[in-house]
Amino acid sequence: MHFTVLTLFPELIRDTFMTGITGRAVANGLITLDTVNIRDHAVNAYGSVDDYTYGGGAGMLMMCEPVYNAFAEAKKKPENKDCRVVYLTPVGKTFDEDTARDLSKEGSLILLCGHYEGVDERVLDEIVTDRISIGDYVLTGGELPALIVMDAVSRLIPGVLGNDESSEDESFGNGLLEYPQYTRPPKWHDREVPEILLSGDHKKVDQYRMREARRKTKELRPELYGEYIKKRGIF
Ligand code: SAM
Repeated sequence: MHFTVLTLFPELIRDTFMTGITGRAVANGLITLDTVNIRDHAVNAYGSVDDYTYGGGAGMLMMCEPVYNAFAEAKKKPENKDCRVVYLTPVGKTFDEDTARDLSKEGSLILLCGHYEGVDERVLDEIVTDRISIGDYVLTGGELPALIVMDAVSRLIPGVLGNDESSEDESFGNGLLEYPQYTRPPKWHDREVPEILLSGDHKKVDQYRMREARRKTKELRPELYGEYIKKRGIF
């Protein structure tokens, strides 16, 4: 997977993504990361990338030209020739595991991070293929949302997670939240690990985990549980 991030804060993207599992994936050559600083495409010597909005209202808007030229720089790379361009925005489809799975099948992605009041709609209409929101709240910029999308996509790429970090059986993989998990010691602050998990009976352990996953999902995310039941025709 090749990620290119169009941003005003390349160091925020690089420093965060190059840490931990995603950093290891870059070091191992499974993922490559490019950033394009939109400021390098400012319209004047003062470094301007934003201007007042037509029609009035508070705040500034990122202008078409710097964003378009940053995009054009990214498109010069052969790997970005036909790639999808994701704009992170509260006015987008809410990000979920299915979307992460869908994006993980691409060879490369360009992610556009907005700031201020956002980006002039005309350049969005011209270059963006997908608009993704990470939830119903407003952040100051698109870098954290981009990193969230990149992280969720990266861990689905074969080889990025080690064997002991497998993404199988995790929340949303089978339409349910994950069951509760425990590690040593077997007793901590008078709280004991459920006996069945110490039994060595794999069939019973699997049944217990499925029961717990369904119980937790029903309790914490009833709408998700409803979907799960409907899809499987369970009543
Ligand atoms: N005026 C915009 C609105 O009301 O929808 C909010 C702009 S926000 C202050 C600045 C930038 O942060 C956006 O252009 C977007 O890139 C990013 N952003 C903020 N919240 C986000 C969210 N929930 N999901 C994805 N991106 C978000």
